[in-house]
Amino acid sequence: MAKSYVVRTFGCQMNEHDSERIAGLLEEDGLVQAESEEDADVVVLNTCCIRENADNKLYGTLGHLKTWKGEKDGRQIVVAGCLAQKDKDLVRDKAPYVDVVLGTHNVHRAAILMGEARTSGPITEILDEAVIDDHAMFPSALPAQRETSYNAWVTIQIGCDNKCAFCIVPAVRGVEISRPFEDIVTEVRALAAAGVSEVTLLGQNVNSYGRDLQLAARQGGDTDARVRPLFADLLGAVGSVAGIRRVRFTSPHPKDMRPETFAAMASVPSVCEHLHYPLQSGSDAVLAAMHRGYTADRYLERLAQARTLMPDLAVSTDIIVGFPGETEEDFVRTLEVASAAQFDYAYTFLFSPRPGTEAAEMQDRFVDAAVASERFARLRVVIERSALAKHRERVGRVEEVLVEGPSKKDPSVTSGRTRQNKLVHFTPPKPLRPGAYAEVEIVHGAPHHLMGEFRSLLQDAAHKVRIPVSSAQ
Ligand code: SF4
Repeated sequence: MAKSYVVRTFGCQMNEHDSERIAGLLEEDGLVQAESEEDADVVVLNTCCIRENADNKLYGTLGHLKTWKGEKDGRQIVVAGCLAQKDKDLVRDKAPYVDVVLGTHNVHRAAILMGEARTSGPITEILDEAVIDDHAMFPSALPAQRETSYNAWVTIQIGCDNKCAFCIVPAVRGVEISRPFEDIVTEVRALAAAGVSEVTLLGQNVNSYGRDLQLAARQGGDTDARVRPLFADLLGAVGSVAGIRRVRFTSPHPKDMRPETFAAMASVPSVCEHLHYPLQSGSDAVLAAMHRGYTADRYLERLAQARTLMPDLAVSTDIIVGFPGETEEDFVRTLEVASAAQFDYAYTFLFSPRPGTEAAEMQDRFVDAAVASERFARLRVVIERSALAKHRERVGRVEEVLVEGPSKKDPSVTSGRTRQNKLVHFTPPKPLRPGAYAEVEIVHGAPHHLMGEFRSLLQDAAHKVRIPVSSAQ
């Protein structure tokens, strides 16, 4: 009987995409997906070190898995991802019964290492940087078991050249490496042929896409100034692939946002009217301490440019409250900028130090926890106010909705996403398959979702199967 596996994912979309690749490699190696850990022979934990207490959570989970492993011969535990990359031998020291520990640069070796561990015992393989090899560099070049079959993430770039003081990503994902333009377009064509109609281009700093390719070309003697394929070019090429109805991307960096990107968003019909535009703080002093490379005014200016070109643009953001040294005055600036920006929604975070980052060393400037919490609550009021206003503005409009399936809270209701990435609940006259497109009239706007009435079916789902990868936060 075939061995079975479960992949548990912690963290961001980049990690979720890596998990799909690990699942794909295991299936290529003859394993099948298990319903639960109880039925599985292999558990893969794809870890993240961005969330608070990520290490405590990992070691807690590994404690349970030690018992699980002892209950049946041949079971294997694999720890992959950022936390494994950052802590290197620590995982092995704390949990010697883990069979394979691998990092972010050798996802492609997951199945091979598991095979070696079966014959030779536990293995730790953490590489310091990406190997110059298609499979190692771009997880998208590996086979995948995608979480859904109507939309897909496509890696366009790995790593990050920035040095934001709060962020561990550059340390665990390395420098920026762009994936060749044609490889990306080829993957999107293949996805479209398989029934995928929505793609999300993934990178840590998508709008600097191609900078390294241009540098490499110049070093190779090519002085053509237009060598660098811009992110805008990529949006155009991916957006015109037949069958691709929606293109999204995450995340751009405000300092690298170019007019060409906004122009491409406005002119390529399949690029959705949604921009995730991380503000982080509204105070110039805090932005400088974070090394973000823009001021609040510059941020708002560019946002205004985007909205001039795309009047129906939805804008989301990330904001950190209580960054070391943040004064009341700084925080009030954040409230002012958030209010001026009129975000559709925001991921707001209380600052918490991540070991290995510059900000973690700023203990003498840490903001009192009670002060930070009080500020956080005040910011939420501003965010919820604009989110509700934006949602109420949608009432009466007929929106294109990509069906995701039954609502988690009430399975008799269908949920889906508008082009602006807003969650809509509605009740169609007969069940719609995930991946179908419907026209829905918005009848109610709440802070975190919309309610709608079904109008018509625009396009049925093109794919045949749905293969879930289990996920945990
Ligand atoms: S741009 Fe800043 S926050 Fe984003 S991944 Fe790079 S270092 Fe981290």
